[in-house]
Amino acid sequence: MKVKGIVLAVLVAFGPLAGAAHAKTYCERLYDSARRDYYSLLESPRKQKFHDNWERVIDKFEKIVDQYPACSKAPDCLFNIGVLYGKLYRVSWVQEDLRSSLRTYQNLEKEYPKSSLADDALFNAGEILEEMGDKEKAYLLYARILDRYSKGDMARKAKSKTAGLAAFAPKPTPPKPATTAVLAAGSSLVVTDVRYWSNPDYTRVVVTGTGAFRYEENQLRRDDSAGKPPRLYIDIKDASIPRSLCDPIPIADGLLQQARIAQHDPRTVRLVLDIDSMKDHRVFSMENPSRLVIDVIGDEGRYNGRKVIAPPSSQDSPLPLAQQLGLGIKRIVLDPGHGGKDPGAVGPRGLKEKEVTLDLARRLKPLLEKQGYEVLMTRKTDVFIPLHERTAFANQNRADLFISIHTNASRNRNVRGIETYFLGVAKSREASETAMLENAISQQALSDLEKILFDLTRTSNLKQSSDLAESIQQNLVWGLNDSFRGIPDLGVKQASFYVLIGAQMPAVLVETSFISNPTGEGLLSREDYREKLAQSIFRGILSYAAALSPAQTGKL
Ligand SMILES: [Zn+2]
Repeated sequence: MKVKGIVLAVLVAFGPLAGAAHAKTYCERLYDSARRDYYSLLESPRKQKFHDNWERVIDKFEKIVDQYPACSKAPDCLFNIGVLYGKLYRVSWVQEDLRSSLRTYQNLEKEYPKSSLADDALFNAGEILEEMGDKEKAYLLYARILDRYSKGDMARKAKSKTAGLAAFAPKPTPPKPATTAVLAAGSSLVVTDVRYWSNPDYTRVVVTGTGAFRYEENQLRRDDSAGKPPRLYIDIKDASIPRSLCDPIPIADGLLQQARIAQHDPRTVRLVLDIDSMKDHRVFSMENPSRLVIDVIGDEGRYNGRKVIAPPSSQDSPLPLAQQLGLGIKRIVLDPGHGGKDPGAVGPRGLKEKEVTLDLARRLKPLLEKQGYEVLMTRKTDVFIPLHERTAFANQNRADLFISIHTNASRNRNVRGIETYFLGVAKSREASETAMLENAISQQALSDLEKILFDLTRTSNLKQSSDLAESIQQNLVWGLNDSFRGIPDLGVKQASFYVLIGAQMPAVLVETSFISNPTGEGLLSREDYREKLAQSIFRGILSYAAALSPAQTGKL
């Protein structure tokens, strides 16, 4: 969003032409025209389906603000842009649209604090922050309304908001212990923890801190005269560490003897790893939370990027595997397709898709939980949940993977097999038929949807989603043919599934088998077949996660 500051010259040129009686200036006439487009978009659900239409109206308002920042209608333009992005978000479910709305409202208040819309903009921004889960910041905005716009019409509402969010009011910072204060003076990062995990062919050391890591790594050769082994050391710049964390950490797992960390000089924290054997290593930093990761890789020659999942090593408090891998795959949302008034596809003998999908998700959940993943389900019972709410649920819960489970159907009862989808424009008639079926919309609506998709797919995790789909599809085909034979592999495909749009994490839709095929329906009613399906999807997720282990994380 480009919003320029008020240019004084323009301000003088337009002047305070207040009053309804004055002839409309040029910029006000531009505003009227943009406003007409605005209403025509908001009144037409059909127009709202196309991203272009939203952009055109937003552009019109933006141009006015850009060219005539002192126009009496400039704040109104910004306000309308904020509204438009907010409403666009309800169609696209792309987080960026919501953030654009937030930014616009905040800009309005910053650029036009005297406008009668300033407090409304702040209030809307506060509600967006609440929706995003940032209640601390939301509180601050409502408090700002009370502080700066106490006579405005939003003050009463802001007051009730701050009362409701009182728990999120900023807390006075407690005085720090003297030693920490001295150490932390001038340093931008405080080390908060050091941990390690031993894995079959690598050891991972993770240093967490309060800010972004800047670091430099070095190696030292064995020093026999000093009795020191080879060492890898990492200097963390502008950092401090409390003394309580400075005890050596014995590791002795065959790769590392121990880790030592201490304040090396007033501005540097040094982590030293005493090495037993090491073939390779990797150091990288990650955010949320901010951490420095050091992988020391063994000398076994087994390190080729694809890892075997190993049980957590014996240590005092073993963390879940997902957390050990430090990769952010912690929370998985399972989405059993259909439910309630929507039975999904129904087999020739009456088996309902909604029953199969829920049962599959229920079988899959404990398998993943045993590996330390947190698993959430979009539905746990036979209830109807709109498609967009399923993705929104995954986004709101900040899930790391989204797996939608379905059974397939075709007008041709002979069609059988397994296919896995990720978001994209369908490349075959079959794929687009499957999407129409799952979306419960017409061909026309689907092609409308595909026009928006072009924009939406840019923000999706397409590469990861495609990898995840591959991994699940492969494991399904292997696993099922192992026990049941002759199950066709229809491959990984793309199509515009409404339920995958807007997912902020790798997201796939698994079509476990054709319920419309009599053999498929027969298999889908069997306990052992369902169990095998769940097991195979589980394996697919695990091997996707495993492929993200050290060799890949450096690229994140
Ligand atoms: Zn379905």
